[in-house]
Amino acid sequence: MMLKISEIFYSIQGEGKYIGTPSVFVRVGGCNLSCQGFGINLKKGGREFMGCDSIYAANPAFSDEWTIYSDKESLIDEIYHCTQEYEGNIPFDIVLTGGEPSLYFKNKVFLGMCEYFLERHHRISVESNGSVLFDFNPILQALSFTLSVKLSNAKEARAINIAALQNILDYAREVNFKFVLDVAMCESGRAQKEIDAILSKLCGSYEVYLMPLGTESKELDSNLNAILQLAMKRGFKIADRLHIRLFGDRRGV
Ligand code: SF4
Repeated sequence: MMLKISEIFYSIQGEGKYIGTPSVFVRVGGCNLSCQGFGINLKKGGREFMGCDSIYAANPAFSDEWTIYSDKESLIDEIYHCTQEYEGNIPFDIVLTGGEPSLYFKNKVFLGMCEYFLERHHRISVESNGSVLFDFNPILQALSFTLSVKLSNAKEARAINIAALQNILDYAREVNFKFVLDVAMCESGRAQKEIDAILSKLCGSYEVYLMPLGTESKELDSNLNAILQLAMKRGFKIADRLHIRLFGDRRGV
């Protein structure tokens, strides 16, 4: 499979455990899921597409905007290039996101790029939906996984794959869960019920982060208040969406 990249840009990690860390984001094209519940509409070619806030990376209708990389050198060059307006030798993290990065876990260009930056002591985090069962190798074992497992508010029946999640817990060096929640999920009790149902079937070491749904600060604030009680009740951590507060829902920042 060719390595398809939706965008590469340098910014600040806005979510999860490493929030605030300068990071190069490598957003792959393509996803195995099609989440319909997040209420984002994007127009292209006179058609309207509904999905998640990364629909331009997830949906193949946008593939003419993606770049194909056939060698690791040009991908590595592009990753350095996007930090060039700043001083050299920046100890940036790399965040592999999408779409769904695990679709490329056998891709030689993808793995070669990871190996190159791991050897130079960059932390590489993968933001995955956790629904793809794949074979680990030493490169993948060295990555940090953030598993954004989709709950019923995503409206995607194929979202939960316990065997795939357990596989990642068994082999990855670090695993964090991230659940995106809104007022309705919290106040109905569905959030706690669904998260507990998933975690009760898994064993291993991980942290759990609850994150508010939203593409603007006002929406984040109201959803943050709703998830606060659940976080305190269950000992989960709260993760904001700093990039939304800084940049809104613009692409590439
Ligand atoms: S898994 Fe993530 S990228 Fe894929 S459709 Fe769902 S929200 Fe979008």
